This record gives sequence, C-alpha cells and structure tokens, in this order.
Amino acid sequence: MSERVDVEQHRADVAELLAELADRPTEEVPVDQGALGRVLASDVVAPGPLPRFRNSQMDGFAVRAADVASAGPGAPVTLPVVGDVAAAPGEPAPLTPGTAVRIMTGAPVPDGADAVVPVEDTDHVTFNGVRDDSAHHDGVHHGSAAKVEIGRGREAGQFVREPGSDVAEGAVVLRAGTVLAPHHVAAAAACGIARLTVSVPVSVAVVSTGSELVAPDDEPGPGQIWDANGPALAAAVVAAGGRVGLRLTLPDDPEVVRTGLERAVALCDLVLTTGGVSQGAYEVVKDALPEVTFRSVAMQPGGPQGLGRFAGGPVLAFPGNPVSAQVSFVVFLRDLLRQAGGLPPVRQVPAVLDAAVVSPAGKRQLLRGRWVDDAAAGARVAVVGGPGSHLVASMAAADVLIDVPAAATRLDEGAEVTTWPL
Ligand code: AMP
Ligand code: MG
Repeated sequence: MSERVDVEQHRADVAELLAELADRPTEEVPVDQGALGRVLASDVVAPGPLPRFRNSQMDGFAVRAADVASAGPGAPVTLPVVGDVAAAPGEPAPLTPGTAVRIMTGAPVPDGADAVVPVEDTDHVTFNGVRDDSAHHDGVHHGSAAKVEIGRGREAGQFVREPGSDVAEGAVVLRAGTVLAPHHVAAAAACGIARLTVSVPVSVAVVSTGSELVAPDDEPGPGQIWDANGPALAAAVVAAGGRVGLRLTLPDDPEVVRTGLERAVALCDLVLTTGGVSQGAYEVVKDALPEVTFRSVAMQPGGPQGLGRFAGGPVLAFPGNPVSAQVSFVVFLRDLLRQAGGLPPVRQVPAVLDAAVVSPAGKRQLLRGRWVDDAAAGARVAVVGGPGSHLVASMAAADVLIDVPAAATRLDEGAEVTTWPL
C-alpha cells in the first residue's frame, strides 16, 4: 500500500523539493536579439533623460513665444525665416530674437527659441513673394527675403519636447519581472540600453517512459502508440517560462531508465518523467528509482505521483495517461516553474457550473471544462468529455480545469467552482 496524501500536501512537498529553483541565475541578452519573451531579472534604469535634448514636436517654425504673442485671426505676425533645422546630426545656431527658423519634428530646438508654431498655422512666403503652403516642400529659403506669416500665437513651451519629459535620468523604465514584448524593447533601445539582464529559464528534462511509445513522426506497429506526453510537457514547460534541456523516450527497462535519468539529472535543473508509477506489474519508474517517494494523491486524474531526489537532482514522476500528465503539470508544477522564471502564478478563476456534476467522495476532481459564453470570472462552464484519463482529444476542447472539492459528491447546476486556466 503506497502512502496517501491530499493535493495540498503534495503541492507543498513539491514546492519544498523545488525550492532551490527559485534562486535563478541571470544572463545578458542583446536588446535586438533574443530579448523578446524573456523575463527581466532587475529593474532597468534610464542612463540619461529621454528625450535626450530639447526637440520639436511638430513640423513648423521655432520662435520666441513673446515675438508671436499678438498673432491672431486676421492679424498675423510676420517674421524673417533665417534657417532650417532637420532631425539630423548637429547643433543649430541660437535663434536671434525677432526671427524664426523652419524646424522639422524631432529636430533640436535652437537656444533662444521657446515655442514651435505648427506649419498649419503659418503661411511661408518666399523671397519672391510666392506663398508656399506645403509642409513638405524642399525649398530652403535662407536669407533675409524668406518670411513666415504666423496666424496664431503660442505660449512658451508649446510643441517643444523637454529633455526628460518621457523619462528622467535614473528613473525606472522597465520593472523586474516584465516579460519583454516589442514595446519594452522599444523603450530600452530608445534609452540606448543595448543589453538586458534576464532570468535564465529553468532547464527541464522531459522523459517519457513506455516500451509502447513511438515518436509522432514514426509509424506505430501493433500495440504501439504515439508519445503524447513528451510533446505536451515540453510545450507546457516552455509555456511556463522554462526551457527543455533534454527529451528522452525510454523503454520499460529499469536499468535503461536509471542510466537515462542519470544523464538527465546531470544536464538539467529538474527531471520530469511520465508513466510507470501506478499499481501495475511493469512500473518502470518506480522500479528504477527506489530513492524516490511514490504515493497516491487523492485526486482524479493524476492520482499516482512520485517525487524525490535522484543522483543529486530533483525528480517529479507524473502518471502516464496523457490527461493525468497534463493535469499533474498544471496542479503541481506550472506555477512553481513560472515563479522560478520570474513570472506571476496563473490566477484561478471562479465560475458557475452549467450542469450538475457527480463526484466520488474523498477525491478532488479536476474535470476538463469549457466556457459556455465568455471566458470571464463568474461565467458558466460546461464539463467537456468524460472522466477518463485517456481522453486527450476531449481535453483539447477544454479551456479550464474545473476543481471539484474532495468532499463533494454532487454539485448542482449553478454551483460556484474554481477553475484553473489551461
Ligand atoms: P503507465 O502509467 O506507464 O502504465 O501509463 C498509463 C497509460 O498511459 C498507458 O495506457 C500508457 O500507454 C499511456 N501512456 C504512458 N505514457 C504515454 C505517453 N508518453 N503518451 C501517450 N500515452 C502514454
Ligand atoms: Mg508505462
């Protein structure tokens, strides 16, 4: 008779076994390569102000606000245009009071100018008296004969971007724990941050056991099946922020399994096995690892579980049925992996049952469920498929696991339940 525990006890024991994973090493990645999707290990601070220098928010004319204060409808102020500033390398000459400089968006605002009049509020009059209303003309009208008519006054500061108005030097731009998305990459790059410090994902060995297994791209012979758990758990590991350090499919031979797992432990932070842990005759993981604890957890699916240390590394042994293996991952490992990688746990969502369910006493059920309407807290969920742990295609139609407490033998339609998003 193997040891019997409830779900919370096993969760606590797994958390204790994997406590060492919380202390993650970090690494640096280039901001423009490989940063996407990684988790920032520490706050990123702006090395300087952003914008870096005073620049124009509009295409228009840089002026002294005082010079154009009186401009209004029917009473334009005319200023000589003494130059052009583009968003280009270099520093513009200071503005002489009583003059204007044509300026482009992002170009440095000359010292002495304190406002930009948008081109829409002006008429640009060239030296020969021709009006040029195009904001995009290339003609540069240097010299005393170029003028601009300003039809609307602007206050000091208008359309001028001050240094540090986006972020001040030393301010936090990105917080530790951020999962880097394109807009985070943009902010870091704009600040001139070329490298980001991210958490090194937990490396997991995903080991399928079973002499009946063949890879999804192989042809199964009589009695053989395709390995669902290897691909499923590898995907689950990556989805939870981990990395698959090794994939093995091992036959039901304890010696071969032991040798394979020795290699897995040496290469990875955590070894995850499936199969060979129940009460049958050929329970290869049980037979191969006498140093690991095998027990029965009061849940369905996913009752038979193993945990312990082998050759110095942590090992979790999940049952072989694909639904059991996936439910085990969600209930026992997903949040621990996420937290080790700096990600928040997946929040459980309250829901109400669309129809009554019956449940065996003393076993916590994790039924596959689908949102009836919207995926929202308090919305209705319906059970998908039956209770069989082999119903892997039915599970593919599920959105959540519906958590039916161990004590419940029946929950009525409309009963409130907790769900675990898949
Ligand atoms: P076991 O716990 O090894 O007895 O496996 C329980 C059931 O799950 C058996 O029907 C196995 O064939 C099946 N199974 C075990 N491992 C896998 C796997 N990796 N992919 C699909 N089915 C599996
Ligand atoms: Mg097996």
